Amino acid sequence: MTAHIIDGIALSRQLRADVALRAAALRARGVVPGLAVILVGENPASQVYVRNKVKACEDSGLHSVLERYPATLGEAELLARVEALNRDPAIHGILVQLPLPAHIDAHKVIEAISPAKDVDGFHVASAGALMVGQPGFWPCTPYGCMKMLESIGYDLKGKHAVVIGRSNIVGKPMALMLLQKNATVTVCHSGTQNLKAMTLQADVVVAAVGKRNVLTADMVKPGAVVIDVGMNRNDEGKLCGDVDFDGVKEVAGWITPVPGGVGPMTITMLLVNTLEAAEMAPTVAHSA
Ligand code: NAP
Repeated sequence: MTAHIIDGIALSRQLRADVALRAAALRARGVVPGLAVILVGENPASQVYVRNKVKACEDSGLHSVLERYPATLGEAELLARVEALNRDPAIHGILVQLPLPAHIDAHKVIEAISPAKDVDGFHVASAGALMVGQPGFWPCTPYGCMKMLESIGYDLKGKHAVVIGRSNIVGKPMALMLLQKNATVTVCHSGTQNLKAMTLQADVVVAAVGKRNVLTADMVKPGAVVIDVGMNRNDEGKLCGDVDFDGVKEVAGWITPVPGGVGPMTITMLLVNTLEAAEMAPTVAHSA
């Protein structure tokens, strides 16, 4: 058996077309959805991520502002910038690219973002809203995974979902989203004994670890849906996920590739969150 591929690029294209339409409707009312991205320091991966996010905004008719600061920027200065963006009516979403330099308390900075502009969904208020099932911004990566499941018409009710990884930005919110859709959820982590015994029971596996080949064909139930969040490099230096794609695709029913799977969906959901922040903003803010 060869699994169906869940194509994150094609799905992103569809969702971004919808974002562009809704952005155009807002523009017609004098509101230009605006995202501010703050990058501190010279981390090469962060520079690529930030560039991709800004370009995606431009392509979908969203206004974006990229603020770059040297790694020596003080915490108080960064907090002051976030406060200013909180007050700026032309900005509907604020994203502080992580990681931040060690002398800056990232938690403090994220908590300084207004929850109404927390389009990354990392604020404690957003996490709490997800936890109790209230409206709020969902973190983009697990939100994108949910959209991928939705795109294949997968009904999670009564299914067993196994999430490998429990980070605050992927694993934990992923588990809560799956739970909200009535899956029975198991969360695995580095302390899990016999990961294979867990994953073999799973109808859906989400791998969010950051290690190659965490999930191999012998660990997957035939027909299962496999979502690969991981981003790693193989021996040739090429991007790969946590899942042994070539092996697992022969057992799974559905699988996401890397690249071209969850990665593009993460940026797409950032656009969706920013657009929705603009749609919910109380005042007509900005016209370009
Ligand atoms: P993270 O904060 O490092 O968390 C990794 C998780 O994996 C931890 O909970 C850890 O357990 C668990 N883990 C480590 N080794 C394990 C093992 N052998 N078996 C089971 N669990 C294990 O990473 P993250 O930020 O969640 O990101 C995970 C991966 O997704 C990374 O490759 C990252 O680059 C990628 N990612 C991709 C996107 C995208 O857009 N595609 C977005 C975000 C992240 P403990 O908690 O016990 O340490």
